[in-house]
Amino acid sequence: MKPRVLLVASEAVPLAKTGGLADVITALAYTLRTQGVDARILMPGYPSAMQSAENIRRADTLPDLPGGQGILLSGVIPVVKVPVILLDTPLFRNRHANPYTDLFGSDHNDNPICFAALAHAAMHICAGRSVFPIPNVVQANDWHAGLIPALLKANNIRNVGSVLTIHNLAFQGNFPMELAPQLELPSSILNSDGAEYWGKISFLKAGICFADKISTVSHNYAKEILTSHFGHGFENILRHRKKDIVAIPNGIDTDIWNPLNDPMIAKNFSCTDIHGKHLCKLKLQKEFKLSSLNPMAPVLAIGSRMTHQKMADITLAAMPALLNRYPLLQLAVLGCGEPEYQRGFQLLARKYPGRVGAIIGYEETLAHVLHAGADMLLHGSRFEPFGLTPIYSMRYGTIPIASRVGGLADTIIDAGTVHSPMTNATGFLFDGEQPQDLIDAVNRALASYAIKPEWQRLQANAMRGNFGWEDPGLQYINMYRSITAPEFRHLFPLATTSRVRASQVA
Ligand code: ADP
Repeated sequence: MKPRVLLVASEAVPLAKTGGLADVITALAYTLRTQGVDARILMPGYPSAMQSAENIRRADTLPDLPGGQGILLSGVIPVVKVPVILLDTPLFRNRHANPYTDLFGSDHNDNPICFAALAHAAMHICAGRSVFPIPNVVQANDWHAGLIPALLKANNIRNVGSVLTIHNLAFQGNFPMELAPQLELPSSILNSDGAEYWGKISFLKAGICFADKISTVSHNYAKEILTSHFGHGFENILRHRKKDIVAIPNGIDTDIWNPLNDPMIAKNFSCTDIHGKHLCKLKLQKEFKLSSLNPMAPVLAIGSRMTHQKMADITLAAMPALLNRYPLLQLAVLGCGEPEYQRGFQLLARKYPGRVGAIIGYEETLAHVLHAGADMLLHGSRFEPFGLTPIYSMRYGTIPIASRVGGLADTIIDAGTVHSPMTNATGFLFDGEQPQDLIDAVNRALASYAIKPEWQRLQANAMRGNFGWEDPGLQYINMYRSITAPEFRHLFPLATTSRVRASQVA
């Protein structure tokens, strides 16, 4: 018999995606399955998910969820064949664009009801009140699933271990206390040691207080979230649970993000023969309407949500100085987010025709074109739990210039200066949140770019990094085993990791 893990999340590629969480959920579930775990995903039945999942069939009905009846559909994720349970409710069925916000970028009013329904559905599965087998462990991802550990405790479900995984502490799911009856939350969990947070119900705090383990996605972020600068008000609550916090760095899907056989790029290449990157750069310049007259023109890429977290404001403030100083410098921007930042990048493109191209939207294929064709990736962040994007770029020999925060500080090795370069460097890291901090880092990168052997060494180092999912998968298995009832622990394969990448924070 295989051990069973239920991963509950609001996104999973290709069924629904707004950011890195979606990549992580599908890749983790797939990896666990290859490692002997019966991993299954529970997520909302958004229209996009219903369209992309395969072999969908009606499996069960849950009559009493917040917001009414829910139907559990069973299906599989295409290509990777990971089993998925879709929670079909009238509210989720209405989410045609972004899963969390309306067309104007405002949060949907019924978010608390929708995601409370998801948590109750998970609790019913864990209680054995559905056709699906009871998991040994339920992994609740981010605030959307944060109520699950609390509901397990409130319903005295002791035979299922629970993990809360924090992919981004900034999103906490805090809602008015008056909603408690509608969300079917018992008073036993609504106190200051539980889901209550400054008089509100906090879905994330519920998870933090009641989960058996709390995991997060990089070593550095695991430490940062215990500080007032990065804790978003939760630092004391997290410190309280410090001994149960585990850091397991994410991996990336090295099949999808592979310059050697990526079908979405102009020409395949590898770290031993990088010539094809030249054609990828030409394709990027064409797609982003950049001049291709000078092959030496350095192309800086940005591929990101356009938000305050991602320092879109600082990037917009810094770019004119850089573009004016370096007449050959080009900028290709792919992203969407807050309307004022979108407008800012569009204006920049109008001001520097042929040198700045901005595509506002969410385009998977263009993301590959961008990572493959650019010389450098600019990735400012005020905080970054892990940061998949710079790792994708490194795979394609596109050198990241990134903030020294969270996972970025763990995964990018700073090049130092031209005069004393680090031989194993893979990119450029900067401290601070001012335009000049970012400008200084780009200056350093452009100085290296001008020295061909140095740049080629950076590219080779970056492309050789090992960021697959195998090791993180084994680390998750170790964590699951530690919270499984003793009589079922033997079900989890004994995982010996090749590198020690998980750590206990305490
Ligand atoms: P976050 O999860 O904070 O958004 P990550 O860098 O960890 O940041 O993950 C972002 C994911 O979203 C990556 O897979 C990246 O390629 C993708 N992404 C972000 N913006 C876009 C976009 N406009 N078009 C396509 N993919 C995007």
